[in-house]
Amino acid sequence: MSMAGRICLIRSVLSSIPLFFMSLFKLPSGVAEKLVKIQRNFLWGWGADGRKIAWASWNLACKPREFGGLGIIDPKLFNLTLLGKWIWRLGSDEGGLWKEVLISKYGGWRFMGEGGKGRSCSLWRKDLKEVWSSESWGRSFEDSFEWKVGDEKDIYFWKDRWLKGEALKNVFPRLFSISSNKNANLLECGFWSNGRWVWQLAWRRFFFEWENPMADQMSQLLLGAGAAPREVDSWIWKEGGLQTFTVSFAYNLVRKDNEVDASPIFSKLWRSKAVPSALLLAWRVLENELATRINLRRRGVQLESLRCVLCGKEEESCSHLFFGCSFAWRVWSLCYRWIGVLFVSHIEPRFNFDQFRLNIPSESVRTIWDTIWVGVVSEIWSHRNRIIFKGGVVEAFEVFALVQVKVWYWVTTKSRGVAFSFSDWCLEPLVCMRLVS
Ligand SMILES: [Zn+2]
Repeated sequence: MSMAGRICLIRSVLSSIPLFFMSLFKLPSGVAEKLVKIQRNFLWGWGADGRKIAWASWNLACKPREFGGLGIIDPKLFNLTLLGKWIWRLGSDEGGLWKEVLISKYGGWRFMGEGGKGRSCSLWRKDLKEVWSSESWGRSFEDSFEWKVGDEKDIYFWKDRWLKGEALKNVFPRLFSISSNKNANLLECGFWSNGRWVWQLAWRRFFFEWENPMADQMSQLLLGAGAAPREVDSWIWKEGGLQTFTVSFAYNLVRKDNEVDASPIFSKLWRSKAVPSALLLAWRVLENELATRINLRRRGVQLESLRCVLCGKEEESCSHLFFGCSFAWRVWSLCYRWIGVLFVSHIEPRFNFDQFRLNIPSESVRTIWDTIWVGVVSEIWSHRNRIIFKGGVVEAFEVFALVQVKVWYWVTTKSRGVAFSFSDWCLEPLVCMRLVS
């Protein structure tokens, strides 16, 4: 099975087998590690016969594809997200009978923030408490949502992070210490007067002179904060703009992928029309994780020669083999001549990919353009393997002709309602490209 097929299988089968268990219980860390191991071994085609090289780290493989990864689901983090969904359902206004049963058994979502483990603590309750306090969400699960003030019954004035994301007991610890009702909900901290909400807090004693500025500061903060009596207090999920918990947004949150690391070239790569095996090959070139001779040596494999078999002159690295090599240059030149453009190409793979599409104004034509790039890279690699393993002959025109055929096949089969003959494609490639929208 090809690597593309294996990834597909991991994404669809291996990730969903334990789904039932994972959506209810926290995976024991030994089990989670075993799951990762099975998936990793499978990804890199490891059989019982021995070790092969894992070309990319597990972390890279689990990154979303637009961040340069392969989008494989990380079982530990996915498990955390699925359990987070239970917390959300317990705390938000969703649910029904199941929620009432749980609340009567465990006492609602607040038990998660409470200390003490105790013998009465069921496994499930313990799991949810761990998920609640997991730092993957920030300081805890509470960091991932905001309170929307409604009828004020559910929110604790001092202890919940209902005002600007911080608990008032942490912002004003001195005032909290002299409050006479530390567990008050919002409703107990004020009253309605002529349709307006007025705050009125209860204290154990009068303020000292030096405490007055703090009290003023808190009053300022409370200005405008009030109730919407017709609604109930509720949670608003911060991420993703939907205001509610979705497994996919929550998973992105706990993965902590930094937007800064998102590389537009990968979104472009995965959008191209090439088949998965060719896309994966191109991905490995862009990540420099392909088994070129230089990379094999980097991984400790002993080789007789590091020379590029296509030119016989320089060492075989990714940038040489696909872009710097005189043979590769001949293939690219044939492509440029076919399309009728002139390029000076960069030998660093990512720059080269970006540069290749630079002068093309239309986005749809660019997608075809990217597909040609994937076609050239994957054909150069196949040609190199034919020479090494099957005694093939170095022939640039053959590679170019195969690129023309393959890309024509990919584009016409993957773009609905687009038809142009292979001879048109060879004679008027730009005209054909414009037909694809
Ligand atoms: Zn070479």
